[in-house]
Amino acid sequence: MTMITCVSPVNGEVYAERPALSLDAAKEVVARARKAQKDWARRPLEDRVQLVLKGVARLNEMADVVVPELAWQMGRPIKYGGEYRGFNERSNYVASIAADALSPMLVEDSANFARRIEREPHGIVFVIAPWNYPYMTAINTVAPALMAGNTVILKHASQTLLVGERLVQAFVEAGVPADVFQNIYLDHETTSALIAAGSFNFVNFTGSVEGGRSIERAAAGTFTSLGLELGGKDPGYVMEDADLEAAVDTLMDGATYNSGQCCCGIERIYVHESLYDAFVEKSVAWVSNYKLGNPLDPETTLGPMAHKRFAKVVREQIADAVAKGAKALVDPKLFPADDGGAYLAPQILVDVDHSMAFMREETFGPAVGIVKVKSDAEALELMNDSPYGLTASLWTKDVERASRIGRDIETGTVFMNRADYLDPALCWTGVKETGRGGSLSVIGFHNLTRPKSYHLKKVTA
Ligand code: NAP
Repeated sequence: MTMITCVSPVNGEVYAERPALSLDAAKEVVARARKAQKDWARRPLEDRVQLVLKGVARLNEMADVVVPELAWQMGRPIKYGGEYRGFNERSNYVASIAADALSPMLVEDSANFARRIEREPHGIVFVIAPWNYPYMTAINTVAPALMAGNTVILKHASQTLLVGERLVQAFVEAGVPADVFQNIYLDHETTSALIAAGSFNFVNFTGSVEGGRSIERAAAGTFTSLGLELGGKDPGYVMEDADLEAAVDTLMDGATYNSGQCCCGIERIYVHESLYDAFVEKSVAWVSNYKLGNPLDPETTLGPMAHKRFAKVVREQIADAVAKGAKALVDPKLFPADDGGAYLAPQILVDVDHSMAFMREETFGPAVGIVKVKSDAEALELMNDSPYGLTASLWTKDVERASRIGRDIETGTVFMNRADYLDPALCWTGVKETGRGGSLSVIGFHNLTRPKSYHLKKVTA
């Protein structure tokens, strides 16, 4: 029997283990979800919405368990109180737009014809979730999919093994039928085999580019709809008229919060030459204030990375960049908790360029490169010189300039004077290797349903 294991970054020991389901057992889960779906979809929309919101409320009541458990699984300090703010905001927002987003589009209602497009649930939605924001990434799809009348099967990351269990526990205790929302433990092979067998009507995968490719390959030929929300290497661009203090504060937070393990974390910063020296100096001071340590200590502001193998990638990218001429500005001695393993000091590199893996590949750690630029054209070329495109963060007082530059950036979201925030009213989407599809907003509901056209000719006497 294959075991799925979570090794805690806090102490390197096994924190949780669960047996992976066999293919046959997993198919039974799918069969139960299939059987439950029609009844769930027949319930009034408002009932489904209210049940989901009750599940969300129940999870909030479980904070005393959920928050330290999260710290043990993936290292986020308990100081930040879990993910409730974004989790609740997204759930409440999608609840508030569900009726409009799912309402029929009326084309004609005359004496002769009724013509309209209705939205129908896909059927079974399979959610494969990552560990970096394990509750928030899962709820982006789980909440609207259930509200829209789908049944949902959730496979969570090994690193955050208990998150799927907690979500389902909360929702079922709140009254969502057990077969409507199920948690499942699966290895990669069985996951792919289920998808390849056409078990699901929609698969949402949030994770790495390589993982996304495997899912796309597994789904090939089955016509299963996919939402792929993959990696990023998001840039910031600080123009000469930017509010310097605000730019440093938001961009450094975007680069290092959650130990830099954010899909839309800032990994590259381009600064106009007139502000460059001041920006670098203030940024180094900003990150030097972190207290790296045990995430269960309420004083800790920067926890370990989720696994020492993730920290190893960051260390290797930094060492490679330094060997090629980059300069590391943060003194590691300020962070005695850095153990060469999962506990990793933040770092800022200058004298970097795009020949370095550090500036091209996803780092996914608390380290960022800063580059001096002379013009919008130079910044634009550098921002687009990436295989990814999730968000870009522009710093200026000029809305028109940001809109103009934004139109030329190959990205899913353009921010001005903010970063690293997922607005549930907007479509969360990426371009290039960051994936396909879109979640949240009205568009998220449309992606979790299919259109059905009614063309009804009335018989007139
Ligand atoms: P990951 O290794 O790709 O894993 C993501 C999920 O997919 C996990 O549940 C994982 O299961 C599963 N998985 C991975 N490869 C698979 C395969 N070949 N077959 C079946 N299942 C597979 O990614 P991660 O390390 O958890 O998450 C970090 C990545 O996610 C980063 O690249 C980040 O940028 C990206 N991300 C993107 C967004 C976005 O909105 N675009 C949001 C958050 C994260 P196991 O854990 O059991 O391997």
